[in-house]
Amino acid sequence: MKSLFLHGKQVRIEEIPLPTPGGEPRIALRLAGICRTDLELAKGYMGYDGTLGHEFVGTLLDTTGALSAGMRVVGEINCGCGNCNWCHSGLERHCPNRTVLGISGRPGCFAEQLTLPEKNLVPVPDSIPDERAVFAEPLAAVLEIFEQVLVRPMDSMAIIGDGKLGLLAAMVFAQRHTGPVLLIGHHPSKWKSIPEMRCLHENEIGNDLVAQFDMVIEASGTVAGLVCAQRIVRPRGTIVLKSTVERSEPLNLAVSVVNEVTIVGSRCGRLPAAIRFLERTDLPVERLIEATYPLDQAEEAWKHACRAGTLKICLKTKESA
Ligand SMILES: [Zn+2]
Ligand SMILES: [Zn+2]
Repeated sequence: MKSLFLHGKQVRIEEIPLPTPGGEPRIALRLAGICRTDLELAKGYMGYDGTLGHEFVGTLLDTTGALSAGMRVVGEINCGCGNCNWCHSGLERHCPNRTVLGISGRPGCFAEQLTLPEKNLVPVPDSIPDERAVFAEPLAAVLEIFEQVLVRPMDSMAIIGDGKLGLLAAMVFAQRHTGPVLLIGHHPSKWKSIPEMRCLHENEIGNDLVAQFDMVIEASGTVAGLVCAQRIVRPRGTIVLKSTVERSEPLNLAVSVVNEVTIVGSRCGRLPAAIRFLERTDLPVERLIEATYPLDQAEEAWKHACRAGTLKICLKTKESA
């Protein structure tokens, strides 16, 4: 089968064997999304080599437990060992021996077929089309913020970064947060996808915004973004770090010490919560798709996704037709 494969820092289409039946349930890919993390992996983040991809919706090929072949599913990407304290407490996402779909120790979803443990699979209701379901994984990552920190109804929020995750976070907060929300970015053309949101260019952050926000979500993945977050968060406020990036640069955290800022790292969330959110709201996540390529043009799709300022690039298979 065809897969989009990472060798060192080279990304190319490669023929690989189909997963063997009889092991973990097999899933035929329908639609997959290329994410910032994939681009970071290709720069060396995690030292991963193999089939890329972790955002997908597919068709289950094997009947397993309560799930029958033919169902559409999304999947939790972290696979715990099942034996450690983290796994026993339901936090497989933090299992030290975990494998992660397309990120660590497990082939990803940019292929005709993939496999995941049965307990990782979440059925997709008919009311959610593939173009929305494919956002379940990044949406779960945004909803994770509400599990980790207390967001009070009138908190003033800022989201830094108008990349794919920043825009998705802005959409979610526009929908469910009553207090003021500001998106800070540098691609005004992208702000059209969230017309209800107040947006500002990074260069326009003046002194009037210093120490004004109860919570700042850093989704730009840059040191400049973090410096900005420290500047605009109020004393005793919270900064939520959402980006995983390959490079590291020195950063002065003294201002956060002085201002007693809480800094929270935030990664993946729960897929069932994301699917329920998509089912119960009309969150227009599909607006974030810029282009969809067939899997056999995955190299072109990859090049497109690498261009600065690109929204979500998707890969589809005949299965989705
Ligand atoms: Zn991702
Ligand atoms: Zn474990």
